[in-house]
Amino acid sequence: MKVRGLLQRIEELTRPVDDATRRSMEERWLELPEAVRTPSQAIGRHGVGCEGTHGVFPRCNFACTPCYHSADANQVRVDGEHTLQEVEAQMNFLEQHRGPRAHAQLIGGEVSLLSPEDHASALSIMRSHGREPMSFTHGDIDYDYLKKVALDAHGKARFKRISFAGHFDTTMRGRRGLRTPTSEAELNPYRQRFCEYFERLKKETGTSYYLAHNMTITPENVGQIADVLRDCSSMGFSMFSFQPAAYIGNDKRWKGAYRELSADDVWAEMERGVGSRLVYKAIQVGDERCNRTAWGFYVGSTWHSILDDRDPRDMEARDAFYRYLGGVHFNAPLPLLALRLGRIALSNPKLLLMAFRWVFRTLHRVGGVRTLLKNKVRPMTFVMHRFMDAAQVNPAWELMEQGIVSDDPAIAEVQERLKACSYAMAHPETGRVVPACVQHGVLDPQENLALKELLPLPRRRERTSPPDIVTTARG
Ligand code: SF4
Repeated sequence: MKVRGLLQRIEELTRPVDDATRRSMEERWLELPEAVRTPSQAIGRHGVGCEGTHGVFPRCNFACTPCYHSADANQVRVDGEHTLQEVEAQMNFLEQHRGPRAHAQLIGGEVSLLSPEDHASALSIMRSHGREPMSFTHGDIDYDYLKKVALDAHGKARFKRISFAGHFDTTMRGRRGLRTPTSEAELNPYRQRFCEYFERLKKETGTSYYLAHNMTITPENVGQIADVLRDCSSMGFSMFSFQPAAYIGNDKRWKGAYRELSADDVWAEMERGVGSRLVYKAIQVGDERCNRTAWGFYVGSTWHSILDDRDPRDMEARDAFYRYLGGVHFNAPLPLLALRLGRIALSNPKLLLMAFRWVFRTLHRVGGVRTLLKNKVRPMTFVMHRFMDAAQVNPAWELMEQGIVSDDPAIAEVQERLKACSYAMAHPETGRVVPACVQHGVLDPQENLALKELLPLPRRRERTSPPDIVTTARG
């Protein structure tokens, strides 16, 4: 009996995809609009999409234009106890309702306004619920702060790896030493310093890192994307994510004709900077009007896509990946992952041949083994994420709540995008998961009003700060 139980446990542990993950993916697939259930769709085939926190530390000490947070966000005190309670509740809910594994963003507000201890505790909570956390910051942090997040009171590394997204662009106001940048190039030393902190941390503590670079795009800085990519792609970031500005959040901070920019305009500038075609149609995450993602790697200074969407053999390899490897937890401990992949290979030996042919084709594309050996190889992902305007999301969501599909084509499009959303936020108190566009465009204002009552700022600070810009320690 004991042996049978042990064998069953081994079978479960080495099962390529656990039942809960499979169930969550199937449910998410059924929720997707028909139009996005394409062969390239990753949601429902390899995961359920990304997640983020909300209302956990809404305040920020920068004053960006635009800012996605509602006008009251900066009137809410950062309170570690509240943060940890909320993170626990939201992550627990996501685990129960979206499955045991996902990538999740620890996002506010500015994450470094949390004490290092609270920040680290929030990351631990997220991990305990199977979430791979990424901390979102404006990047104006000190090395000492980072080290305190990474190490416990005894100097022991708390995490094997940490992930941060650093936001750097000319729409931001308040960075120490560069309060009002006038060009993206002026920010390069700050981008560089941010990356160097993590490299130093790795050397001193053994904590490895994954860094994403975030940038809001407006008509003013769109023409500088290419230079940012050329200047910064070898600094240490593994992802560059561009967010065309939207009319969402604090309307006092809206400045400019954001809608002049199309997705193609931004993507073309990204391609100009990378110097390669950025393939985004091979793998789609949610709706193409929201997201474009190009997965690949640099060999030396040349970027290559992992898949060529014009090669049917690569598309066949992608389909096989979804069919046989979709949902596999690739961040699992290596021996476990090897056993799981081994089981897949044993029951589908033709996969090995397909994988071998894909490796051979990719090697050929990059210029052969010699090129590979002579150059540094670095994984690099490029992303564009286009939030929608609050004025569109509000009516679309109101109708969705009543189960009505709008007969206005523009609102119906928003409804489709919301249904295919790849960026979810949890509301355990109402038993709901909502798209981040709904959170920021519809729910944040009320939520922050309530939080302002619950967590008021100390009175002294209220007297000395402008209404929605807190500048005390910066600048
Ligand atoms: S948050 Fe909004 S823009 Fe982003 S994927 Fe969801 S619906 Fe689309």
